[in-house]
Amino acid sequence: MQVGDAVLALSKVAYRWPGRTAFSLTVPDLSVAKGESVLLLGESGSGKSTLLSLICGTVLPDRGTVKVAGTNIAGLSGAARDRFRAEQIGVIFQQFNLLPFGSVVDNILLPLRFAPERRARAGHAASEAANLCTALGLPTDITQAKANTLSVGQQQRVAVARALIGQPPLIVADEPTSALDANSQVAFLDLLFAQTATHGTSLLMVSHDPRLGERFDRVISMEDIALIERAAA
Ligand code: ADP
Ligand code: MG
Repeated sequence: MQVGDAVLALSKVAYRWPGRTAFSLTVPDLSVAKGESVLLLGESGSGKSTLLSLICGTVLPDRGTVKVAGTNIAGLSGAARDRFRAEQIGVIFQQFNLLPFGSVVDNILLPLRFAPERRARAGHAASEAANLCTALGLPTDITQAKANTLSVGQQQRVAVARALIGQPPLIVADEPTSALDANSQVAFLDLLFAQTATHGTSLLMVSHDPRLGERFDRVISMEDIALIERAAA
């Protein structure tokens, strides 16, 4: 793969959690191409969420570079990095992280508040949020409902809509299906892949569940891409 085609490129990245945990992660080389969907498998505690934090720039590597859409995120100041993340990356957290007292539409529009270019791409943002709700199978009258009144499945769709709005070039998802039964998992992935295919979005999803693999362009495992070290207990 040519570097110029990569939406995400990690090179010689090393990170060690400070303090007592003595967990360190080294990733020599990882890239995701434009439009590519990649499933990253790894058991619990193997550093998947740490890797996603490095990709999102919420933690910075001790060594090496993390480039998103060609920009080395460690080269940005804190405020510029927060804005860059909001512009470039749609994030689906394991626990969805919705604002409980915010409405559905407030939650979906949240990343646009920090990302003027992404907001411009979303056009009329409130209508776009409603369109995404419809595309994701949420009832149209749900947009003013408070997030804490939604079912888990509805919360998940809102989390997907929030990641997709304004078409960020990269979506990262941290075990978004772990709390779902098999049928809901299939429905969730159908929705996610339909949306990413429409917009040529790249997708990096981490999971401990190898059964998800057949849907993705590429399946990799933490042990293949990363060196993990921890102090002996
Ligand atoms: P996974 O997502 O694969 O379950 P994590 O990246 O969450 O793995 O955690 C890997 C290890 O990193 C943990 O076992 C812990 O030692 C360390 N770790 C994770 N988060 C933190 C943190 N916020 N502070 C200190 N150490 C952490
Ligand atoms: Mg995790």
